This record gives sequence, C-alpha cells and structure tokens, in this order.
Amino acid sequence: GPLATATASTATSYPTNHERISSPVDTANFIDNQFIPSRATTWINLHDPATNNLVTRVPQSTEEELHVAVASAQKAFPAWRTTSIIARQQILFKFVNLIRANWDRLAASITLEQGKTFADAKGDVLRGLQVAETTCGITTQLTGEILEVAKDMETRSYREPLGVVAAICPFNFPAMIPLWSIPIATATGNCVILKPSERDPGAAMILAELSREAGFPPGVINVIHGAAKTVDFILDEPAIKAISFVGGNRAGEYIFTRGSANGKRVQANLGAKNHAAVLPDCNKNHALNAIVGAAFGAAGQRCMALSTLVMVDRTKEWLPELAERAKKLNVNGGFEEGADLGPVISPQSRKRIEDLIASAEKEGATILLDGRGYKPEKYPNGNWVAPTIITNVTPEMTCYKEEIFGPVLICLNVPTLDDAIALVNNNEYGNGAAIFTRSGSTASRFQKDIEVGQIGINIPIPVPLPMFSFTGNKKSVAGGGANTFYGKPGLQFYTQQKTVTSLWRSEDATHSRAGVVMPT
Ligand code: NAD
Repeated sequence: GPLATATASTATSYPTNHERISSPVDTANFIDNQFIPSRATTWINLHDPATNNLVTRVPQSTEEELHVAVASAQKAFPAWRTTSIIARQQILFKFVNLIRANWDRLAASITLEQGKTFADAKGDVLRGLQVAETTCGITTQLTGEILEVAKDMETRSYREPLGVVAAICPFNFPAMIPLWSIPIATATGNCVILKPSERDPGAAMILAELSREAGFPPGVINVIHGAAKTVDFILDEPAIKAISFVGGNRAGEYIFTRGSANGKRVQANLGAKNHAAVLPDCNKNHALNAIVGAAFGAAGQRCMALSTLVMVDRTKEWLPELAERAKKLNVNGGFEEGADLGPVISPQSRKRIEDLIASAEKEGATILLDGRGYKPEKYPNGNWVAPTIITNVTPEMTCYKEEIFGPVLICLNVPTLDDAIALVNNNEYGNGAAIFTRSGSTASRFQKDIEVGQIGINIPIPVPLPMFSFTGNKKSVAGGGANTFYGKPGLQFYTQQKTVTSLWRSEDATHSRAGVVMPT
C-alpha cells in the first residue's frame, strides 16, 4: 500500500533523513513552488543501497501532472525572462548561500539514497555549488557584441532565453548534475523542468526547496519524477525547447535522436571507459595512490572513474603494490567513520558487475583482487562489491569493451607509449584519460594525440571547474560533442542568438529611386 502521504501533502519543506528513516514518505512532485503529492498508480521503490531498506517511493508522475508542470513553467516564463538580470543574479546569490548552509543536509540525503560516503557526497554538492557560484557572474558573462558596420549603421548580437528547458539526470551525482543545469538555465532567463534519477531524487528535492527560499518565482524550477515514460513525455512535448541529458549510452543515444528529430536542442553526456597510462619514469607513489583513489572512489560509479589501467613497459611489476593499496580501502556504509567506498546502487547493478568479473575470468583474464562476496558486518544486506583488480586483460574481452561502473580496475600491458595511445584511441568511448609521467615531452605527445575530452597529466580525474566546460569525445558525448555542459558552451546552449542591424541616418534621404542590387 502507499506510504504515509499526510506529511508530504502538507509539508512546506523536504523531510530530514531522520524523519524519512523513521517513517518513509512518498516523494512528491515540486510544481509552482509546492510539494504536490503524486496521484501516480505506478511507483518505484527506492532502497538504501547499504541496507536495502525502503527509503521512499518515487512516483511515475501521471500524464496530467507532467502537463501541469509544463503549463506552470510556460506561465512563469514571460515574467521571468523580463526580470532584470541583476534581480536574477540576486536570487542566485541567495541560492548559493542556501546550498552552502544546507551542505551537510544535501550530502546526507545523497549518502542515504545513493550510497556514496558522506565525505564524497559533500564533494558531489560542492562541484555543483561551484557551477552555481560561477553563474553568479552572469551579468558580465552574457554581454553581447556590437560593431558599427557602416556609417550610421550598427550590428549587435545578443542572447535570449529559449523558454522552457528540461534536464534528465543520472543517479551517480544527485546534486552536481542537476546543478550543471539549474543555475545556468535560470540565470539566462529560462524555466527548468528537472527530472532527477528515479533512484535518488532527494537531493534535487532539497535543491527545489532551497530555490523557493532563495526567491525563484513559482514555475521557474519544477521537479517531476518517473522513468522512461516521463522522458518520452519530455521528448515529445513541443513547449520544451531544449534537453540536457547525462547518463548512459542506451538512454542517451535514444534521447538525442528523438529529441533532435523533434526539433529540440539536446546536450548529452554519455558513458565512459577512462584509461590511465602509467610510464616507468612517473612518480610511482603518487601514481599508484591516484589510480587506486580514482578507480575505487564512489565505488567506481563516476563517469570519470579511472577504470582501465594501461601499464607501459615494466610498470606491470607494480601490480602487487597496487593491489596492496586497494586492499586497504575500507568498504562500509557511507555514514560510517573511515569508510572509503560504499555500496553500489542496486542489487541488479551488483549482479551486473559480478557477471562482468566472471566473464573476464572465463575469457582468460586473472582476478588479482576479488571483491565479490564481501559484506561489512553491520550491513549484511547491502549491495557490496569490494575493490577488484583484473589483470592480463586484452581489448577483445567483454570487461574491456563494456562500461563496468563499479569498483573494478582492469589492467592491460603495453610495451610503449605509442601502443598506449593507440589503445585509448581505438576504444569507442572518449570521456577522459590520464597519463602519469615525469617527462614533459611524453605528456605533450599524449595530450596532442589522444582522442578524449578531458586529459589529466599526473591528475587522475581531471573534471574541469565551471569556468571551463565538461568536454567529451567519440561515444561519450552525443552529437559529436557540439553542446557541452557549463562554461561558455553551457551559456550558449541555454540561449538563442539574435542579431540586429540598424540604420539611423543623420540626414534625410535625397534619392527618389529604390535600390535593387545588393550593396557593393
Ligand atoms: P541511465 O542512462 O540509466 O539513466 C539516466 C537517466 O535516463 C535517468 O533519469 C533515467 O530515468 C533515464 N532513462 C534510463 N533509461 C531510459 C530509457 N530506456 N528511456 C528513457 N529514459 C531512460 O544512467 P545512470 O545509470 O543513472 O547513470 C550512469 C551512467 O551515466 C554511466 O553510463 C555514466 O558514465 C554516465 N554518466 C556520464 C557523465 C558524463 O558527463 N559523461 C556523468 C555522469 C554519469
């Protein structure tokens, strides 16, 4: 039967973790600045990945609710677009301060629903907050261009909002990725419909509450829920002009194709298989620590996780030391003191990861460190996979070809830097890659020749700060990477360019004949 909705229907704020654990409540939609309980007939049960206890039910919002959300955003748009940019900036200042003040609360919601450690969840919030903070400079970021192109004639080019835009988010960064969209889309004058991941919408709900407190008018930010049905509604609703998607390739390629066919702008960041090339001349301790942290942190559920180690030349001799460091990581509930990584998102995900490990074994690889079957004492029912290292991997193996998205590091040996570069470039994904070396010229070769979006030189997870853009290449980004997230391309994505050419003659015209040729 349904969970208690009495609190949800009257609540003015989103419940705390404590309230939610003692008495789970259904997740509501957020429309017109109100938490509105859904009349859904289909619900998605959301379990704490560390215990598999029910935390909430997320509605498959009804068709009518989805229409109401779009109507609310459409109604809000004319006044919001004409709200002065300084007034929008003031609201953003408040929003930023509120996110910082609610940092722990947001992080706790992420740990409860998504499973990552509390310390790591704080990083999830911070990376999103930094996008919002950077967007506070919108008053100088959005200036246009002007040129006097002839006597008394000038052309000016400036940017206007699109209208209603939508964001479809993945489960792995419940705060950061909604915040790749909300601040930039709204600061530029759009109204946003956000569809968080149905697996962990809590952080987005808190952000919605904070946006209201910051002063965003009703309808500027609405949150609706659901899975594929809600996505199809967004794809086909003519009032929605643009879609921001972050997630896997299956959903993302479909969304890009159908959204584009419907005439919408689509930005879509997809899956990954990020390689780290380790050269014998590198700072060994630094490299080994960086790789272990980036392979297993967040249980490998980061799109920039370093999941593939390319050991150049004799660096393969370092494998035992690598395994020693991985073994030392503490796998535990995300709220536990000293936990290094938490559970994976779902039992299905655990099974998928375990099956991929088994496939590697079957296809001839070696399981150097086996994290299957691990269980922390206090959490026997969670979705646990401890750090796993697979060696003697070759590019034909399933574990190399598929994104594992779990705490599994696969290792390949190559003799030279050229082989390492060829391996990365032959992989169909192109999100990120890292190189560990002390040689400037080696790093420079790698940087020039490699076909990925983000490159780290002695940096394991080179996610760009918000003054830059999150870039991608090959299958890791739909549409060839034309519309990347945040930074200047982010501002451009959420705005339409307008170009005005005007003539203001200082004297009256004296000719009485019309000109019919193009001016030369
Ligand atoms: P996912 O693709 O399963 O889900 C993402 C969103 O798409 C969700 O909101 C979900 O409801 C929706 N969706 C899922 N299946 C759908 C379908 N068949 N039709 C329509 N909509 C559908 O991704 P996830 O498991 O939540 O996230 C993990 C994936 O996201 C990984 O592949 C990871 O690499 C990727 N990711 C990429 C980046 C990046 O910037 N490149 C960042 C984070 C995550």
